[in-house]
Amino acid sequence: MAAHVLVFPFPAQGHLNSMLKFAELLSLSGLHITFLTTEYHYSRFCLHSQTHARLSQRPGFWFRSISDGLPDQKLRSAARLLELYESLTNNSSSLFRDFLISNQRQETQQYSEDGWPRITCLMADGVMPFAMDVAIDLGVPAIAFRPSSPCSVWSAFCLPSLVEAGEFPFPEEGDLDERIHAVPGMESFLRRRDLPSFFRKARDTSDSGIRLLYEVTASSTRANAFILNTFEAMDGTVLSHIRTVCPTTYAIGPLHTMLRRMSNSTSRNSASFRDEDRSCLTWLDKQPKGSVVYVSFGSLAVMTDEDLMEFWHGLVNSGQRFLWVIRSDLVNGVEEEGSPSMSAPPEVAEATRERGCLVAWAPQEEVLAHPSLGCFLTHSGWNSTLESVAAGVPMICWPFFSDQQITSRFVSQVWKIGLDMKDMHGRDVVERMVRDAMEGERAQELKKSATAMAEKARESVEEGGSSYMDFQRLVHYLNSTGS
Ligand code: UDP
Repeated sequence: MAAHVLVFPFPAQGHLNSMLKFAELLSLSGLHITFLTTEYHYSRFCLHSQTHARLSQRPGFWFRSISDGLPDQKLRSAARLLELYESLTNNSSSLFRDFLISNQRQETQQYSEDGWPRITCLMADGVMPFAMDVAIDLGVPAIAFRPSSPCSVWSAFCLPSLVEAGEFPFPEEGDLDERIHAVPGMESFLRRRDLPSFFRKARDTSDSGIRLLYEVTASSTRANAFILNTFEAMDGTVLSHIRTVCPTTYAIGPLHTMLRRMSNSTSRNSASFRDEDRSCLTWLDKQPKGSVVYVSFGSLAVMTDEDLMEFWHGLVNSGQRFLWVIRSDLVNGVEEEGSPSMSAPPEVAEATRERGCLVAWAPQEEVLAHPSLGCFLTHSGWNSTLESVAAGVPMICWPFFSDQQITSRFVSQVWKIGLDMKDMHGRDVVERMVRDAMEGERAQELKKSATAMAEKARESVEEGGSSYMDFQRLVHYLNSTGS
């Protein structure tokens, strides 16, 4: 019987992006795949991305969806992620069980009546322990995939040690620059402010974000295997720590680079929920090499009107060219109509017309790979970070939430491929950071390290490279679930 992997991501843009790439990679290796997501996100993805049409024509690739339990009109914004998480856990858990039971019902048959084979392994998003529990309960092997940064995953594993050492919870009004010692491997550079945002917000261990970290971490250790989107040359130290608790950890990344290498085709894999504005690629074609600052805060980060204006002034004052993704819900999470340039002061709007380009959503992987790119002002989402790493583009990090706070520390202190703008605000800071990343000696050093890291990323997915080998081992294991 052919192995049939059920891939089940948490319904957020970054999670879907990486897990869909993973699903396609597995499919290219001959495995049967069912990609399961929630109805709301599935309909958005079908509407805006051509990948759905392409993959659903692939023999042995199926899409399925279940309800996330939230009424359709409810916003699935960053502010409501915990709500979405709770709804999934409380409502979708039983739907997921029914779904899996209906598939597993054929005790002996290989295929159900409509030709849909029996699932032999679940690959669930590690932030959905309920999915893992259902599979384990039904005797289906379960693998956890974490689309977050490995450094954040390891810091969450260390939560009990942080509590025991009295380093968490932080004292009220305590100094955020205070050093953290209870995360092995990070003693020399980790500060309170660098821990994932849940730590900073929580007053005690009963906080909902902290409980979530506990649940997610515990469920990862119950999985038959643990997968991270990274590569040894970048995260080897952290991976060796993670393997002390999850011995069967595969580091298979950057996934988008691996997919490009293995698919040998020009077809793009995008799970986008929004229409990409490809006109920015034409604009980039007209800019000099290495001259553009790409600005994007991912799919969930929000900012105030004031922050937006400070970024805008800072970018304009830096004198650099810039391409900026201003999502319709970037400001305060509210959907806005029309172009934001209309509300900028005349001199800022004028400078933007001369050397800027604003779009609502960009084909980011292509933008980052464009020769005109000079640096990436990012919120440090893990997919964005890996896409920048693979393209050799230095970063300026303005982390918003979750794993982004610790990722930005690694970008600046460990990998030395960018600058950390964490907790800083104002046009002068933005201007200074942009100048430092684009002009002079510092910029050259960053570019050199970023180029070297991109080369290591490329090597890791080549035949014999660390990610390539881990992927082959994983496929071997998955195939064994079908026999
Ligand atoms: N992205 C994109 N176009 C944009 C902005 C973002 O395609 O204009 C993609 C980006 O390439 C990445 C994902 O959206 O794959 C964002 O994921 P990430 O983990 O960086 O951040 P999140 O949105 O989860 O905060």
